[in-house]
Amino acid sequence: MKIGVLALQGAVSEHIRSLEQSGAEAVMVKDVRDLDGLDGLVLPGGESTMMRRIMDRYGLFEAIQTFAGQKPIFGTCAGLILMAKKIEGKQGPHLGVLDIDVKRNAFGRQVDSFEANLQIKEISENYTGVFIRAPYIKSVGDQVDVLATVDDHIVACRQDRFLACAFHPELTEDPAMHQYFVHMVEEES
Ligand code: GLN
Repeated sequence: MKIGVLALQGAVSEHIRSLEQSGAEAVMVKDVRDLDGLDGLVLPGGESTMMRRIMDRYGLFEAIQTFAGQKPIFGTCAGLILMAKKIEGKQGPHLGVLDIDVKRNAFGRQVDSFEANLQIKEISENYTGVFIRAPYIKSVGDQVDVLATVDDHIVACRQDRFLACAFHPELTEDPAMHQYFVHMVEEES
């Protein structure tokens, strides 16, 4: 099984290491051809508007939208924002594949980053979430399963073959989120 990590911004090599620890082959995706033969894709954190701009420049935006029509995607932080159907204060989504309404930089300017202990449904009872200028999910559609919350704000969810979290799973030693995604990809392929 081969999983790609969009390599335009963010902690790409950390994602690759976590996927490899979870038993998958992992490769960087820098242009459209890199998507060939992949069974799943990770969209890392970074800055969503900048990532969108770079995706457009390399023709990756449409290619990833097509990929999302068939294969599993795991979006983390900015990646979650790229997947959302609705983004507060923005007209229209980016990929718009995940039926959630998100707020960017939602935990406030004074708390740029923090760690929180999370219980993640079916994944972990005791997980350290690393949040960096993180979004949260304001609401989810009927088909979306909420996996974790912080102070009543939704920070992880799944809808079919789409997994998303507001924190950075690649920046902790715990591979539980990546393992879960690798299982999703296995089931799908
Ligand atoms: N605040 C960023 C955005 O809006 C996301 C932050 C992150 O990925 N760590 O895109």
